[in-house]
Amino acid sequence: MAINLNQPIKPDIKQLTKYLEQVNDSGWYTNFGPLHQKLTSRLEEYLGVKNLLLVSNGTLALQVAYKTLNVTDALTTPFSFVATASSLIWQGIETSFSDIDEKSYNLCPSKAADVLALHSEVNTVVATHVYGNPCDVIAFDELSKQHNIKIIYDAAHAFGIKVNGESVLNFGDASVLSFHATKIFHTVEGGAVVFKDKVNFDKAKEMINFGINHDQVILNVGINAKLNEYQAAVGLVNLDGMDNVLEHRSNLFHAYCKGLAEVVEIPYWHRQANVNGAYMPIKLKDNHQRERVRRVLNSANIQCRQYFSPSLDQIFVDSYSYSTENSHMISEGILCLPLHTYMTLEEVFVVIENVKKGVK
Ligand SMILES: *Cc1c(COP(=O)(O)O)cnc(C)c1O
Repeated sequence: MAINLNQPIKPDIKQLTKYLEQVNDSGWYTNFGPLHQKLTSRLEEYLGVKNLLLVSNGTLALQVAYKTLNVTDALTTPFSFVATASSLIWQGIETSFSDIDEKSYNLCPSKAADVLALHSEVNTVVATHVYGNPCDVIAFDELSKQHNIKIIYDAAHAFGIKVNGESVLNFGDASVLSFHATKIFHTVEGGAVVFKDKVNFDKAKEMINFGINHDQVILNVGINAKLNEYQAAVGLVNLDGMDNVLEHRSNLFHAYCKGLAEVVEIPYWHRQANVNGAYMPIKLKDNHQRERVRRVLNSANIQCRQYFSPSLDQIFVDSYSYSTENSHMISEGILCLPLHTYMTLEEVFVVIENVKKGVK
């Protein structure tokens, strides 16, 4: 039997049908309809946040956050999914990369500070909570004050993560979520921005509906980035099961860590944060060892993926890159193992045995 890297949550069809019938009854299919409103308030409550704006996908959520906060020159991480950086470049924002911390694999605040001292035009830092592991949010708060810059977090992996009991989404000026089918919680395609300030939330809400305001007046350039009622219905159904999903996936994550701690390197997790089991990253010594592990896994019908490789500064060579050697080193050895909602503990043990075989 194959062990898949990932398997999207399958929304309960009966529950989903009930919601879709409501949509037909109301005749309201998109544009901030009743299900959209319901999902917004349920997510705000579930995650412990305010000013959550649903958006049609995570990439547009990033772009809307950049536009709302007037990002013109950004410093970002080279170790993330490609959309973190490509969304900046797509929008014509000056983009620079600085290095990650070699233990957490997150953007390093002190290295970012060095770059800010050299490159004073930067007005925003865009950092990813890689694999859901929170960045050093306190250090970035400091950095934001010292240099008078904004902080935007790509929190696409960080659904349900808290730091000292506080949602990680409440740090920085805005945090962006992705609700793509492959993510831990999904609406098929979808995403959200959580803004610190209500004024920015209001501005962004107009922006994602062509810039049309509540009086039907157009004052700003906008785009269409609305989440529709069918997507909201999937979200409402999936949200009912999220406590179980998070518990199950973190159990699998802990089982992996226990089985592999002595065998491979695993990123250091933030000490005051919970885990959500969004991903199971391991770092092998180098590309050779990774290739050996991949071959063993492949022949046992176990999927794996090089999240994240190559380092993004190697793709976007026209952007500025300040020493990114940790990112290069980590991306040469990184491998993500299967971890999803329908995976069993027994399957985790099978994967562990095969990783051990490959490492030898
Ligand atoms: C998935 C992901 C995105 C993009 O989200 P979409 O909803 O697929 O557009 C952005 N950043 C990170 C880190 C992601 O993992």
